[in-house]
Amino acid sequence: MLPISHINGPGAIPSGPFSFFFPDNVPTMNVLVLNAGSSSLKFQLIDTDLDMIAGNRDRRLARGVIERIGSQALISFENAAGNIVRTAQPIRDHRGAIDAALRWLVSDEAGIEGVSSLSAIHAVGHRVVHGGEKFTNSTLITPEVIKGIEECIALAPLHNPDNLRGIRAATEIFGPGIPQAVVFDTAFHQSMPEASYLYALPYQLYRRYKLRRYGFHGTSHRYIAYRYRTILGIPKSDVNVITIHLGNGCSATAVKGGRSLDTSMGLTPLEGLVMGTRSGDIDPAIIEYLMAMEGFGIEQVDALLNKQSGLLGISGLTNDMRELLAEEREHGDRRARLAIEIFVQRIKKYIGAYLAEMNGTDAIIFAGGIGENSAEIRSRICRDMGWCGLRLDEERNAKLVAGAEGEITADGSTLRAYVIPTDEELLIARDTVRLVERAELPR
Ligand code: ADP
Repeated sequence: MLPISHINGPGAIPSGPFSFFFPDNVPTMNVLVLNAGSSSLKFQLIDTDLDMIAGNRDRRLARGVIERIGSQALISFENAAGNIVRTAQPIRDHRGAIDAALRWLVSDEAGIEGVSSLSAIHAVGHRVVHGGEKFTNSTLITPEVIKGIEECIALAPLHNPDNLRGIRAATEIFGPGIPQAVVFDTAFHQSMPEASYLYALPYQLYRRYKLRRYGFHGTSHRYIAYRYRTILGIPKSDVNVITIHLGNGCSATAVKGGRSLDTSMGLTPLEGLVMGTRSGDIDPAIIEYLMAMEGFGIEQVDALLNKQSGLLGISGLTNDMRELLAEEREHGDRRARLAIEIFVQRIKKYIGAYLAEMNGTDAIIFAGGIGENSAEIRSRICRDMGWCGLRLDEERNAKLVAGAEGEITADGSTLRAYVIPTDEELLIARDTVRLVERAELPR
């Protein structure tokens, strides 16, 4: 884990009991951000406020991961001082996981100033993967919202039920007195026009099943676009960029006028760029071919495309970009090189497509584990892009790693490139605070 530090600079607001108006009239809240997976729970406690343009006051107080829920769970907690606690204990379900996290958060061991009981947690923000067409924004949780998330289960059978488990467990623990919000991975992309989101399939399939492109990583793309306009001091309507999130999952978004115009992931996160273990775009006829030639059932094809493909599938070695780069560098491994080459080429294709679709753009922005840390991959993606005005400054590029933010193109480059470390949890915390305060969401 990266060390926790103040987000975007030193924190000015002390944590403490909730108050709508702190000394300088800035409301502040401790928001517990929860991301519930099938057998895991990730959380962060963020002290955040409504002041986002001056901003930079939010403080990450703690974070943690609980894995293997349902058996002997592996726990890793970290406080703002960077003290990490790793333990293992049996945890039955998500409720048990949240209980364990809360017990630690209020403990002397965590040592979080002002957080010694549950009452120091003022709101909960949940990440939910799929909001379908119903949710175009983050929203406070109500019984209708829960019903809406349930209705989206068919679209995300692997994720929404787990997210709901997290919401139900938090509701049991905190009771009705504490506001909870949901932030959807798909919501940012709901601004896509029909021409971007419809597949060229019989139209009645869209009518009948809402079969269409939804896009994911929306919170990340939205955060990056938001941060870009904050850095440049421009209005949302002037944000014309291609945001490229490269983590284990990878996606690119054409952001025009501050809104998602098109994105590379589709009905599910499988479409688009090459990822750690996902294929990204393929000819759909491959599925039938595999079923015929290998005798695969649909589950095996699904596992092959989602879990055994991408960087791992091509290299036969690993889904980890750092290791692939090391293999290529140290052993000249041919398939590691090939995996990287195909990964880079796919990204270039999408940049080209979005430049054409957007009628040109102002900047390309990299984020995610690979986008934020690998100057080498960024350099390969931006190579030979002088034709569209992008000239990388290799020195600037090499310097921006490990959470650093800034421009990587040379002065005078007409298409600029930036690295902006993403922070989905921060945006979830900010959305939650603003929903509770009935303020406008950051967009
Ligand atoms: P997730 O999508 O699970 O949140 P991350 O955003 O943390 O994942 O990204 C994980 C990817 O980032 C891995 O492929 C990892 O190898 C890669 N990565 C992290 N640091 C580096 C680095 N210094 N050089 C190249 N790749 C890196």
